[in-house]
Amino acid sequence: MTQPYDIVIIGGGPGGYVAAIRAAQLGAKVALVEKERVGGTCLNRGCIPTKALVRSVEVLQVVEEAPAFGVIVEEPAFDFARLMARKDEIVARLVGGVEGLLKSYKVEVVSGTATIPKPGLVLVKPSSSDPSPTSNLQPFDGVYPERSRRAQGRPLTSKNIIIATGSVPARPPIAGLDAPGVLTSDDILELEEVPDSLTVIGGGVIGLEFASIFHALGTKVTVLEMLPTLLPTVDGELARRYQSHLQRSGVEVHLRARVEEIHPKGDRLAIRVADSEKEAEAEKVLVATGRVPYTEGLGLDELGVKRERGAIVVDESMAANAPGIYAIGDVTGGVMLAHVASRQGEVAVENILGHPVAMDYRAVPNCVFTLPEIAGVGLTEEEVKGEGLDYTVARFPLSASGRALIVGETTGLVKLICERESHRVLGMHIMGPQASDLIAEGTLAVQMGATARDIAQTIHAHPTLPEAIMEAAKAAAFGQAIHYRKR
Ligand code: NAD
Repeated sequence: MTQPYDIVIIGGGPGGYVAAIRAAQLGAKVALVEKERVGGTCLNRGCIPTKALVRSVEVLQVVEEAPAFGVIVEEPAFDFARLMARKDEIVARLVGGVEGLLKSYKVEVVSGTATIPKPGLVLVKPSSSDPSPTSNLQPFDGVYPERSRRAQGRPLTSKNIIIATGSVPARPPIAGLDAPGVLTSDDILELEEVPDSLTVIGGGVIGLEFASIFHALGTKVTVLEMLPTLLPTVDGELARRYQSHLQRSGVEVHLRARVEEIHPKGDRLAIRVADSEKEAEAEKVLVATGRVPYTEGLGLDELGVKRERGAIVVDESMAANAPGIYAIGDVTGGVMLAHVASRQGEVAVENILGHPVAMDYRAVPNCVFTLPEIAGVGLTEEEVKGEGLDYTVARFPLSASGRALIVGETTGLVKLICERESHRVLGMHIMGPQASDLIAEGTLAVQMGATARDIAQTIHAHPTLPEAIMEAAKAAAFGQAIHYRKR
């Protein structure tokens, strides 16, 4: 029998691989089971490839707008194959980097699919796509012949098992999802040509990021969202402003449009919306209606692991109800974000290894990489109202930011929500260039319980975009910003 590990982690995404590295840093002997390459959805099919595409279309936009900057570019154009290849190169480089890091920390990466037959034991079978058995197969109790051993799987023993198996795209109750041309967020990253038209089902984060990308590449994009608003997790005011921006730029948006059926119509797809006579038509359809926790084949029913709507229920130490079983990341439902999964991974291993810490969700930045970007942290105005808090709102428009004018991107604002009495920052919401970077200041403010006065009296470099945050904080703390007069 192989020596027991201190921790066996199932799933090598930003939850699992960060947990593995943190555990190794704390001196633990760790095995990480992964059926594909490490990096999970985030590196291979999510955050990283999509942001690589967003960057390419940003460059395209800059080139298209070059004359306004006094730069002459003859006939701006793009090469879709090269753009997709660059995305693949970035993914490969980052995945290779994570593999190298895991190796340097002596984390044993075991290739294959895991099941948990009982607490304390993980069996790993080579993935069907993997023709050879795992290269470092150890004898199973030293007695099983090769075939039997492969059928049983390689046993990994550990008192502590962390499940970090992530999520997969949800399959909503829409007829015709298997029609050719209907894409998931995984499929759309493999397109070889830019479609002439794309209907996006779901006006959430994934739907709008791809809508932004393909609109910038010249595709005619239509977004169908069943709720009365886009981006349900974003502050309503910013979501509405973004919707107006999107529509002005030529993207068709239909709210309260619940898609019920997709069917081929000639060489196109027809999309039928509930309670509507008209059908939308498009060359391709992207289904971006959420993601669901992925636990297939783990054997959770037999283990008695408690789940709610498919998500493993965990406490603040990331422990599930079965002995020695922990879960982190998208598989626990809740906030499905890579950076949350990573923090949950650190929390799980620190608790396992005798450094008690509770998972804290007060300051989770939420970034949408559309053009322009949207980012928020803390409470939205809807949430503050819902909780009955006494609050004030201050805003600073990017049209009044010198830096935004220099960059040539003045669409957007910083919105600060503070507790009325204390001016404590309850939420910060930003739409504009680099919003996903700028939100770091708000994240720290919320995490540390900072007030608007703390931010307002902190010197910010000039001329920079973060000055807009300082200006919004001055408006919150003192009633007026310096470079914008509210009338
Ligand atoms: P989402 O829940 O954000 O949005 C899905 C949308 O689809 C919802 O607004 C829903 O009302 C709508 N919808 C569902 N069924 C529909 C139907 N039949 N017709 C029309 N609309 C319908 O989900 P997502 O955008 O798929 O993202 C999944 C998860 O991945 C989220 O948790 C998201 O936060 C995360 N994610 C985050 C980032 C980021 O942080 N930048 C990027 C990608 C994904």
